[in-house]
Amino acid sequence: MKDQGMKSVQKNNFAETFHLFYRYDRVSKQVISDNLGHSLPTITSNLKKLLNRELIVKDGEFLTQKTGRPAQAYKLNESAFTSLGMELFGNYITIISLNARGELSAKERIDIIFENTDTYYKKITDELKKFVDSKKLDIDRIVGLGIGIQGLVSDDQRRVVYSKILPMADLTTAAFQKYLPFPVTFLHDADAVALAEQHASKRTEDAIYLSIGEHLGTAMMVDGKIYNGARGRSGTMEHITIAMDDNRLCYCGRHGCIETYVAISTLIDESTETLTSFFDLIHSDDSDTLRRWHQYLNNVAEAIVNLHMFADSPIILAGEITNYLTEKTIGYLEERISQISAFPEEKNYLELGEVHTNPVAFGAALPLVQRFIEEI
Ligand SMILES: [Zn+2]
Repeated sequence: MKDQGMKSVQKNNFAETFHLFYRYDRVSKQVISDNLGHSLPTITSNLKKLLNRELIVKDGEFLTQKTGRPAQAYKLNESAFTSLGMELFGNYITIISLNARGELSAKERIDIIFENTDTYYKKITDELKKFVDSKKLDIDRIVGLGIGIQGLVSDDQRRVVYSKILPMADLTTAAFQKYLPFPVTFLHDADAVALAEQHASKRTEDAIYLSIGEHLGTAMMVDGKIYNGARGRSGTMEHITIAMDDNRLCYCGRHGCIETYVAISTLIDESTETLTSFFDLIHSDDSDTLRRWHQYLNNVAEAIVNLHMFADSPIILAGEITNYLTEKTIGYLEERISQISAFPEEKNYLELGEVHTNPVAFGAALPLVQRFIEEI
C-alpha cells in the first residue's frame, strides 16, 4: 500500500510537471521549483522522463532571476502527439490535425460522395491514412480521430442515434475502427463547434452557441461542459417550431423549424449560388440580394431572441457563416434584436465566434488532445 501511495505521488508530480508546459512557453528547473515546490531530484527525474518520451524538448538557455546564471530551458514538443478531426458532408469530407497544443497543424478537403456503406467508410479511412503520410505525421503518435456528426450520438460517443441529413443512424465507430490503429469517437457537430469556440475564446461562463453552416446547430455550455440532458437531446433548438402550418419542410419531418429559416441552405440556392457569389453581390450593393440578406438576418435575430428568452446567457454566432459576417452585420442584428425583444436589454449579449476554419472537425479532435494531457 505504501508503495502504491508513493507511485501515485510520483505519477501526480510527473503530470503536474507536464501540465506546467501548458502554462509557460519555456520552463526551467527553477520555474518548476517555484510553481510546484518539488525537490531537485524529483524535478531532474521528471524532466528526464519527459525528454525520453519526447513530450518536451530543450530550448536553449535563459537567465534565472535568483542566481543570475544561465539555466537550461525546456518547452513542449508540439509534435509530441497529434489528434485528428473529421467532418462528413454529402459530397466531400474535411480532415484536420491538431498538435500537442491543440492548434491546427494541417487540413484538407477531399471530394467523396457520401453513402452509408462499408466501401465509403473504407475509402475515408484510406484518405485519412494518405493525409497522415502527406503531412508527415507519425501514426504512432496519433491519440485518436474525432468525427463530427450532423446528428445526435450516444453518451459513449460510439454510435449515431439520430441522423437525417446524412442517413447513418445506428452507425458505430466500428465502421472506421476496423481500419485504424487509434481510437475513433463521434461528436454531435454543434457540440464540436461549441467546444472549438470555448477553447479559442478561453470562455468559462455559460453560453449558447448558434452554429450556422449548411445546416443549423445549437449547443449549450453549462459549467464548462456541453449540456446534453438526460437522453442527449438538449441543445437541439434548431427544431423549435410553433407555426405548424408553415409550408417550410424541415429534414426532421416537421414544418417551420428554426432550421428552415436560419440554415445557410435556406439563404442561398445551392444549385446556382455559393456563399462567396452571394456575398460578392452583397458587397456590390445588389438590391435584390440585399433584400434577401436582410430578410434572412431578421430571421436570425428572431431565432436569437427566442434562444435568449430560454436561457439568459451570451449567444455566440459560430460556424461557417462567421467567415462572411462583419461588425456591420452584428450591428444590424443587435439593432433588430433591440426592436423585437420583449424585455428592455441592458447590454448586448450577442458575440461573433472566432473559429472560422473547420470548426466541427476542430472541436471533434480537441477532446482527444485534452484527454491525453489530463490522463498522462
Ligand atoms: Zn426540424
